[in-house]
Amino acid sequence: MKTNPTDRYHIDDQWEEPEALHELTQKLYAYHPESDLVRVRYAYYFAEKAHAGKLRSSGDPYITHPLAVAHIVADLRMDDDSVVSALLHDTVEDCEGVTVETITSRFGPEVGNLVDGVTKLSWRHVRELGSQGMRAQETIKAAESLRKMLLAMAKDFRVMVIKLADRLHNMITLDSLPPEKRTRIATETMDVYAPLAARLGIWQIKWQLEDLAFKHLHPAEFKQMTELVSRSRAQRETDINRAIGALRERLESEGIRDAEIQGRPKHLYSIFNKMIQQGLDFDQIFDLTAIRIIVNTIPECYQAVGAVHALWVPMGNLFYDYIAKQKSNGYQSLHTKVIGPHGEPMEVQIRTRRMHEIAEFGVAAHWTYKEGRAKQEETQKLATLRQQLFDWSSDARMSSDFLRSLSTDLFAEQVFVFTPRGDVMDLPKGATPIDFAFRVHTQVGMTLVGAKVNGHIVTLSTPLKNGDVCELITRSNAAPSLDWLDYAKTSHAKSRVRAYFRRTHRDEYAQKGKEAIERELKTQGLEPREFLGEDRLTEVAKAYEGCHEAEDLLAKVGGGLVSVQSVVQKLVGNRPEPAKPNRIESKRSDGGKTVLVSTGASNLLVRRARCCEPIPGDDVVGYVTRGRGIMLHRSACPNAQHLRDTEPERLVEFDWPADGTNYPVWIRILAQDRQGLLMDVSTVFAETKANVGNATIRMTPGHTAEISLTLEVQDAAHLSHVMNRVGQYQDVISVLRKFGRGGAN
Ligand code: MN
Repeated sequence: MKTNPTDRYHIDDQWEEPEALHELTQKLYAYHPESDLVRVRYAYYFAEKAHAGKLRSSGDPYITHPLAVAHIVADLRMDDDSVVSALLHDTVEDCEGVTVETITSRFGPEVGNLVDGVTKLSWRHVRELGSQGMRAQETIKAAESLRKMLLAMAKDFRVMVIKLADRLHNMITLDSLPPEKRTRIATETMDVYAPLAARLGIWQIKWQLEDLAFKHLHPAEFKQMTELVSRSRAQRETDINRAIGALRERLESEGIRDAEIQGRPKHLYSIFNKMIQQGLDFDQIFDLTAIRIIVNTIPECYQAVGAVHALWVPMGNLFYDYIAKQKSNGYQSLHTKVIGPHGEPMEVQIRTRRMHEIAEFGVAAHWTYKEGRAKQEETQKLATLRQQLFDWSSDARMSSDFLRSLSTDLFAEQVFVFTPRGDVMDLPKGATPIDFAFRVHTQVGMTLVGAKVNGHIVTLSTPLKNGDVCELITRSNAAPSLDWLDYAKTSHAKSRVRAYFRRTHRDEYAQKGKEAIERELKTQGLEPREFLGEDRLTEVAKAYEGCHEAEDLLAKVGGGLVSVQSVVQKLVGNRPEPAKPNRIESKRSDGGKTVLVSTGASNLLVRRARCCEPIPGDDVVGYVTRGRGIMLHRSACPNAQHLRDTEPERLVEFDWPADGTNYPVWIRILAQDRQGLLMDVSTVFAETKANVGNATIRMTPGHTAEISLTLEVQDAAHLSHVMNRVGQYQDVISVLRKFGRGGAN
């Protein structure tokens, strides 16, 4: 949006302006002559006035900071909205009377949004990394939360770029802060910001942040490294210049004339890191300098690598083609390592100019001005980049939790909410104080009576927003209310609330359970009174986990946690298997297959083979036994295969549709262990109307839980629906139907 600037700002062009501001506008003009320079100047004076009288801890006027940040942003050749926003980035946070609305009305909505975004990323509420009482583990977790939150909150990447520039300047001026503060900020820079800059591909900022943090975190090593590097510099520069000369000659003879060849000193922290990681002494690090060749076209890149290999012997297996296979942050180049002029290893990078721009500026390169490039193409590229950013799989520093939550696009679906202490919690979008409370602690959820968000009392159904500070109000004698089931968004909170109601409504459920068992006994032609004696029920109850008396068991049946059939089977006792044979009539259909129809009135006795426990909808074959009816096997059952080989004449093909009966099948679930997992899984069973019996859990090393259980389902379609639903939980690794009761699967 551009209006005639002089109308709006009334700034006299003859104004004597500060040198650094003049340089800034010149810099911007050089790469984007159409920039609204008057607006940039206006932003400067606006910020200067807003920060008037305030000093940095270095003693400089505050305005020097936003101005320096704007310079860094302009060095990345970002658009003028970004440069203007950089100048204004601290005004809303620090200056009385300046609001996002003020910024928007004077500098336009784009700038308003950017400044708002940067302001929100200031996380005053976050507990300081590595602060007192925070364990190492917590610090790592906190760093992850911060990185995650930063990315999630910065909807516009320009916000991140400005934030990184801000951090870079704060690091440059870190010397003026007291030592404790320095260490804290340097740690945060190393743990949060440098990895983010790397992820966004902004190499220029990444290595500067690392070196500056290195300087403050390991001052002795930094000093030593600086001395070592400078002592060997003269010799190295001579060597490199000689190598560059040879290379230029070679390239020109191959027709590559305007290649740019740079001798690039490696940054200190990367040398230090290499020494630590590979246990080397400084003397053993040879490749302190690398050579970079920048050419015009991709074919020239490959031609140049040929020239390099012709001059110097390549070291085995150290050629990488990141042009053909670009890195997830968009980085492209050819890398090779050769034995240099003095027999020492020398790294060479080869890339085009555009690749170079992206390598140095990363995501920022997408905002640089290009002639005739369609805006849509850029937007598309950014969308792809955004996706790639969340492919952190190569980053060993990330915990598996972090990886998992980022790999699904939870990104747009998450909100980050703070406790008053400054801990960050990530919750699904739409989550309410109820979810927040249960996430903090189950007991907090159970006794929740109210919540304050950013200091104001809200209803418990209020959805939380990014950056909200949520304070919970509890009362020890309080209890969940039934409508929480509607307000809660997380399955964790829901299942806790549900469990509570199941517990408190025990009598009601027990009554329901008793009725269900009575009904089931009657349909089997049995007399309920014979089976429902207290002693008998108590005896059966002991077979179920968590059931101590008859009431417990009845309540579980009523609540759908234990299947009626499994209880009845146990009550009726060890009758010949199965306790309840399926009486099925067979009809010959036209297709030659026999269709099983359950009528209960047939003479033909069909039983399920115990080895493979088929259910309706399975591919089955019937084996005509000698005098004991037909035994059904799954076609894939090894025993069926054996019968096919030995007694094919006794096999009958069947079509077996669902018949309203529930059949038990044996299931094995492998999952990452976490609190509430079992509850979530049982919720699925309840919702899909599949009764569960005999669940056992076994913990395996590496926090994996193996859950074995019996499910009662109508048919194969019902079963696969249930299995799919369970499989949708992120923690679930596999869901398998076992072959019969035992067996591997
Ligand atoms: Mn700042």
